[in-house]
Amino acid sequence: MKNLQPVIASERTYVCEKEKFVPVSEYYGEDTFSSKVMQEKLPKDTYKKLMQSINDNKPLDPETANAAAHAMKEWAIEKGATHFAHWFQPMTGITAEKHDAFADPIGVGEVMEKFTGKQLVQGEPDASSFPSGGLRATFEARGYTAWDMSSPAFIKRTGISTTLCIPSVFISYNGEALDKKTPLLRSIRAVSQSAVNMLKLLGARNIRKVYSNLGPEQEYFLIDMNYFYKRQDLVLGGRAVVGAPPAKGQELEDQYFGCIKERVSSYMHDVEEELFKLGVPAKTRHNEVAPSQFELAPVYEEANLAVDHNQLIMDTLKSVAKKHNLAALFHEKPFAGINGSGKHVNWSISDNNGNNLLNPGKTPQDNIQFLVFLVATVRAVYKHADILRASVGSYGNDYRLGANEAPPAIISVFLGEQLTKILENIEKGQVSKATNGEIIDLAVSSLPNVSKDDTDRNRTSPFAFTGNKFEFRAVGSSQSISFPSAVMNTIVAESLDYLADRIREKKHGKSTGHAIIEVLREEIREIKPILFNGDNYSKDWEKEAAKRGLPNNKTTPVALKALITEKALDIFEKYQVLSRVELSSRYNIYLERYIKDFEIEAKCMSNICQSQIIPAGTTYQKILANAIVSTKDALGPNADVSAQIELLTRVLDLINKIYTVNKRIQAGMKKTCGVHDEVKKAEMLAKEIKPEMDELRGYVDTLEALIDDEMWPLPKFWEMLFIS
Ligand code: ADP
Ligand code: MG
Repeated sequence: MKNLQPVIASERTYVCEKEKFVPVSEYYGEDTFSSKVMQEKLPKDTYKKLMQSINDNKPLDPETANAAAHAMKEWAIEKGATHFAHWFQPMTGITAEKHDAFADPIGVGEVMEKFTGKQLVQGEPDASSFPSGGLRATFEARGYTAWDMSSPAFIKRTGISTTLCIPSVFISYNGEALDKKTPLLRSIRAVSQSAVNMLKLLGARNIRKVYSNLGPEQEYFLIDMNYFYKRQDLVLGGRAVVGAPPAKGQELEDQYFGCIKERVSSYMHDVEEELFKLGVPAKTRHNEVAPSQFELAPVYEEANLAVDHNQLIMDTLKSVAKKHNLAALFHEKPFAGINGSGKHVNWSISDNNGNNLLNPGKTPQDNIQFLVFLVATVRAVYKHADILRASVGSYGNDYRLGANEAPPAIISVFLGEQLTKILENIEKGQVSKATNGEIIDLAVSSLPNVSKDDTDRNRTSPFAFTGNKFEFRAVGSSQSISFPSAVMNTIVAESLDYLADRIREKKHGKSTGHAIIEVLREEIREIKPILFNGDNYSKDWEKEAAKRGLPNNKTTPVALKALITEKALDIFEKYQVLSRVELSSRYNIYLERYIKDFEIEAKCMSNICQSQIIPAGTTYQKILANAIVSTKDALGPNADVSAQIELLTRVLDLINKIYTVNKRIQAGMKKTCGVHDEVKKAEMLAKEIKPEMDELRGYVDTLEALIDDEMWPLPKFWEMLFIS
C-alpha cells in the first residue's frame, strides 16, 4: 500500500517513565481493594462481618455496608478517583459501567464526597439498551446491579480519569439474570454442592466447599495502529475480510516461542505492569505460532475471579496497545491463511484445603477419588458435548473451529495413553475381580506417573486432560469465558450427582470400594465413545466420530440449538443456574449476535469492494489500456503488447466478477433483511451468503497479486504482520 509507514523504532510513542526499577512485589495489587486493604482500613469488627458475608455468601447488614463504603471511598479518593461505578458483564460479552461522581451537592456551590452502603451494594442502571433476549420488554427498563463481594473492587484509569469499579451482577426487575456473572456464580455453587456430597460419600471429612478453578490462556494479534485504521473491516469487525496470505507465513516455524521483538516486549511490559497493579497474576508471555500473534496466560484462579480478570486482561491489552500505537486484535481468525486465536481454558476443581480433585494422589483413597472426578468430568462432556459446543459458538469462532489448527467442532476427550489404559483395565473388569487391596494397588502403581506425563500432549484435541486439569481449547479468543465455564460446572455437578446415586444404589450389601469400581466400570463402557487420543484434524476422525454418534455441529446457528433442547433446559433449571426463560434468552441473544456480526462483516466486505477495490482495479485497467493503445501508436500496430493484453483481460475479468458477486451478496442481504424468523435468517446467511463471500474474497485476493502495489488501497498482510 502506498504512503503508509508503520511507526518506526525512533518515533515510538512510549517512553520509559520510571526513573528507577520498582520490584513487582512492591506494587502488586495496589489498585485493588483487597482483603489486606480492607483489614487495614476497616474497624476489626466490620472487617470480620464483611469477610463472613463474603465467605458465606450472605447479604450485608446496612451498618457494615456503610462502613465498607466509607472505607472504600476514602481509599479510592486517595488513589485519585472522582467517580464510582458498578462494573458488570451484560450479555454483550464485554463489560459495562455507569459512572457516578462521589461529589454530591450539599448547598449552592458546595459539594461533599459521598458514598453510602446502599450505593455500594446496589445500583440501578437503565437496562433497556442491553441485550435481554426477550427477558425484559423495553418498557420495563429497570435493571439492578448488585455488588459481587467475592471479587475485589479496583481502580480503573482511563486517560486522566480515575474510577472506583465495583464488580457486580446485573439482574432484571424480576430477578432474572441479564448478565454473564450471575449464572457463573450459581454454577460455582452447584458444582461445589455436588462435589462436597460426593466427597462425603467417598469418605472425606471436613470438606465444606469445593472451588472450580480457571486458567485462561489469552491469544491475540498485534498490528500497527496506522494499518488498523486504514481497514474498515478490522476497525468494525476485527477481521480482514480480504487479503492474500503473505509469502512467508508461519511455515518456517520461527515465530512460536521465538525471541520477542523490542516493540512488543515493551508493550507486554506495560500491560503486565497495569495488570499487576490490579492484582491480576499475569505469568506467561510468548510469541504464538502465527506472525504477530502472542499469548498471555495468568496463574489460574477461582473461577469468578478468573473470569473478571480475563475481562481486565482483554481491556488492558487493548488500552495499552493504543499507547504503543498498536492495535490488539482478539478476533478468532483475523487473517486467513495463518493460525487463528483461541482461549484455552484450563479447568479443575479443588477442595477448601487446596487439594486438586483432579490430581492423581499418593494414597489409594486419593486415587479412587481422582478416578471418580475424572470419570464424572468425562461423562459430563460425553452427555453434553452439544451444550459445550454451543457455549463456544459465535460467528468469529466458526472461522476457527475445524480450520486445521484449532480443534474441530466435534467435541472429544483426550486422556493420554496411560490413563486410557487404566480406564480400559477397569472396564474390562480386571480390577473388579480383584480384592479391594488389589484394586487399590493397581491404581497406586499406575497412577502416580500420570502427573508427570504432560509431555504426551495432543494439541488437536478440543478437551484434553493435562496431568491435573482439563484444557478446553475450543473457546474463542474474543469471547467471555464465563458461559463455557458455567456450562462445565453445571454438567459436572450433574454427573457427580448421577454417579453418587449409582454408587449408593450399588452399595447395598457391598463395600463402598466395590460399589465405586463397579459403577466406574459400567460408566467407562458407556462414555467410551467420547475418548479419542488420535489426530482430531484428520478426515477419518470425522467419519469415525459420526459412527460413534458424536455431534458435529459446524456452524453456530445449528450448534446453538443445543441450548433449547429439553435436556439442556432441564439440567440448567435443576441446578438453578439458568431458568428455562433465562436459558432461552441466551439462545436468542447468541443467535441475534451471530446475525449482527455476519451482517456487519458482509456490509464491510461489500463496501470495501465497491468503494476501494473496484476503483483501484479500474485505475489499473485504465493504465493498461492506455499502455496498449499508446505503445501501438508509438511502435505501430504490430508491436507486441500481448503481456499487457493478457493482464488487462485478467484484470477486467476479475473486476467484472467482483462486481457481479458483490451485487449478488447485496441482493441476498436485502432478501434476508425481510426474513423475520431469526433461525431461518441465520441459516440463510450461513448457507447462502457465506459461500458467496468466500468466492468474492478469492477474486479480490487474486486481483491484489496482479495490480500495481502502489495502487492497492488496503494494507497487505505482509505489511501488517511483521511488526518492526
Ligand atoms: P500451555 O500453553 O503449555 O498449555 P500455559 O502455561 O500457557 O500452558 O497455561 C496453562 C494455564 O493452566 C495457566 O493459566 C495455568 O495457571 C493453568 N493451570 C495450571 N494448573 C491449573 C489447575 N489446576 N486448574 C486450572 N488451571 C490450571
Ligand atoms: Mg499456553
